Amino acid sequence: MSKRDYYEVLGLAKNASEAEIKKAYRRLAMKHHPDRNTGDKAAEAEKSFKEAKEAYEVLSDAQKRAAYDQFGHAGVDPSMGGGRGGFSGGGASFSDIFGDVFGDIFGGGRGGAGGSRVQRGADLRYNLELSLEDAVAGTSVKIKVPTWVQCETCGGTGAKKGSSPRTCGTCQGAGQVRMQQGFFSVQQTCPTCHGKGSVIDDPCGTCRGQGRVQETKTLSVKVPPGVDTGDRIRLAGEGEAGDHGGPSGDLYVQVHVREHPIFSRDDSHLYCEVPIAFTTAALGGELEVPTLDGKVKLKIPEGTQTGKMFRMRGKGVKPVRGGPQGDLICRVVVETPVKLTDQQRGLLQDLDNSLKGGGRKHSPNAHSWVDSVKGFFEKMGF
Ligand SMILES: [Zn+2]
Ligand SMILES: [Zn+2]
Repeated sequence: MSKRDYYEVLGLAKNASEAEIKKAYRRLAMKHHPDRNTGDKAAEAEKSFKEAKEAYEVLSDAQKRAAYDQFGHAGVDPSMGGGRGGFSGGGASFSDIFGDVFGDIFGGGRGGAGGSRVQRGADLRYNLELSLEDAVAGTSVKIKVPTWVQCETCGGTGAKKGSSPRTCGTCQGAGQVRMQQGFFSVQQTCPTCHGKGSVIDDPCGTCRGQGRVQETKTLSVKVPPGVDTGDRIRLAGEGEAGDHGGPSGDLYVQVHVREHPIFSRDDSHLYCEVPIAFTTAALGGELEVPTLDGKVKLKIPEGTQTGKMFRMRGKGVKPVRGGPQGDLICRVVVETPVKLTDQQRGLLQDLDNSLKGGGRKHSPNAHSWVDSVKGFFEKMGF
């Protein structure tokens, strides 16, 4: 499916100002917000909401917007491993991929012209397994994440205590140098400082001049009630620390809900299969069925067949993005008795004779099926 142009999504011209982009996004976000669109329109609204959000995330970021203007979706598409959405496996951050492209072709680039040339840390992904109960009720979990954090010894500068990085002599701190190539004068990343604009003569011993060290962070994650497999929770700034004091990336906690022995889930509804004795199915009765917040009584009417569904309103899941609580749907399966004693076999034989004596009235489905099969055989000449 081809993606819509981000300016088109927001209803803007290519030269729209930052304020116009923000305004357009706010208006669309209000209009399509999942809290305001429930029922039939929910799915469509959620799609529009996500589309607007994605467009805004790119166009509101000067660096990403420039990439998008130059290369279109390929320049920022998360699936291309470029944008901040490309978080899988602590993937490369935006500047990792496009910093050099800009550096070589357009100059500036990293952090914008004249700005600091530090790199934002990579985003991280953490896979969180939850039980169905925790996913539905919400929970708080502690997770351990191996990551890079800012070096405390040097405060992220990478220079030994008491010293500080010195402005690069080759590029005079610009991070870029101009090279003559035939007729063209081309900007290139400075070979001495690799674009950072500064060099460290006396590197910090703790981080060996990197400004960051590897560490296992323990984080507390608040999981809101109603999450499902595929949802992700963003912890802003909890990704890897950037190089040389650069800003940290984000941590995405990807939710995976384990299979439950009793319930299966489809969106806000829970399903369970309830085997019942064939005598209960025939005579009717009452049984206890589990819900996520306790037991409820289920009345089985006389003559219940396999496959009959019983719906318990409001015993499902309250969706994390709002909307009504779902239902618990129990599907009854009639169990044929096994390992009969001689006495039971005799009783059933008597019952069978008695049922046959009633003609077709005790098993109308079986009889009408036999009738249609008979008709079919005659027609086919079997
Ligand atoms: Zn250090
Ligand atoms: Zn330099």
